[in-house]
Amino acid sequence: MTLTGAMLGVSLVASSPLAAQPSATTYIHAGRVLDQPGREPRGQSTIIVRDGKIAEVRDGFATPEDGAMVVDLKNAFVLPGLIDMHVHISSDDNLLRSRLESSGRDVEDVFVIAQGNARRTLEAGFTTVRDLGGDGRTTTTLRDAINNGVIVGPTVIPAGTMISVTGGHGGVNGLNRTLTHAVAAERTNICDGPDGCASAVRAQISLGAEVIKFAATGGVRSNVAGGLGKQMSDAEMKSVVDTAHSFGRKVTAHAHGKEGIDAALRAGVDSIEHGSFIDDETVKLFKASNAALVPTAVAPIAALAQARRGEAPGPQLAKAEEAAASHAASVARAIKGNVRILFGTDSGVAPHGDNAKEFALMVKAGMTPEQAIKAATSDNAAELDRPIGAILPGREADIIAVGGDPLADVTALEKVDFVMRRGVVHKLDGKRQAFPPE
Ligand SMILES: [Zn+2]
Repeated sequence: MTLTGAMLGVSLVASSPLAAQPSATTYIHAGRVLDQPGREPRGQSTIIVRDGKIAEVRDGFATPEDGAMVVDLKNAFVLPGLIDMHVHISSDDNLLRSRLESSGRDVEDVFVIAQGNARRTLEAGFTTVRDLGGDGRTTTTLRDAINNGVIVGPTVIPAGTMISVTGGHGGVNGLNRTLTHAVAAERTNICDGPDGCASAVRAQISLGAEVIKFAATGGVRSNVAGGLGKQMSDAEMKSVVDTAHSFGRKVTAHAHGKEGIDAALRAGVDSIEHGSFIDDETVKLFKASNAALVPTAVAPIAALAQARRGEAPGPQLAKAEEAAASHAASVARAIKGNVRILFGTDSGVAPHGDNAKEFALMVKAGMTPEQAIKAATSDNAAELDRPIGAILPGREADIIAVGGDPLADVTALEKVDFVMRRGVVHKLDGKRQAFPPE
């Protein structure tokens, strides 16, 4: 496919890095447009973008007004920017390098890694990500720098650091006694008992968390034995959920083992991450509360490959084998049972920028391409309560384009040729664009 990217009349305003402004008006001539995922795509259309927002969508190729920038996507399939509900934007996805270097890294080093990950993610067509755990301040600084036009990346919605019980998946493990005490003393996410866990939630919110994540069960990537079973008590989970909701934050639970998933659903979580062991009873609990499942199907595959290559220490291989063996069937059961499915990858475990590989796995598990795309756009947008996920007047101008037809072959989304975020073109004809725009 060729995007000609013909700039008939370019009128980009002069901008400083601290106030990068999109061109005032852009006309996008699109061959096909999935303006409202879940419905039939439009044919030849013109998307008019003003001041970073979608102003209008017209049939046919409208003649641009004077001074407008024109983007030629006449041969492309255009759709809303993709949304990933589960990334770790500051995590080095090279596990081996990360293990060797992490004890020598300061927060500044981590921020540089996060900056590179953010750019790769945006250029893969993901214009919004929910960050489900890292150092809270790294993520909020990154979020603000991107929103202020200082650096390039997707819109970031941070969860701060994952709430965990002492010794749990988000606790301190794998370090010697001195380091364990030192690291734990700095952490605000580790809690025991309902009161302690309420405090931990409030601490994340005070550091800028817009959503709360907690570890209901063990996890593959923590260097601690004890498997993937329930780690947090019912009372602790209830306290986390109620406290977060009282602050207007949604709550999502990292959960592999069935007992932990079920307990989190009973505690009232809004969503479950991973969901490696789901049976029919669990499906009923999902339906009763209308909670969503974020499958992160690329993650167990990536984690198992890393563990088998010997890159993951100690107890991780057994847990990776266990999760990977059960995960696909559990997700398929949830899809068959009409559980609400959102799109999320756990990128940081799998490589940043490969987020779209999740689509093929969702389709393999039983979703249609149309459903998988809807999950990654309008459904995720609704869950986040943000004006994104559709190409409709008033929405953020987060728009991407691919060469093939993703409704026929969802892997077309693995090669994104055009990326616009909030009206600024970051990729055109498959090539990175200067930022701030020249
Ligand atoms: Zn994760």
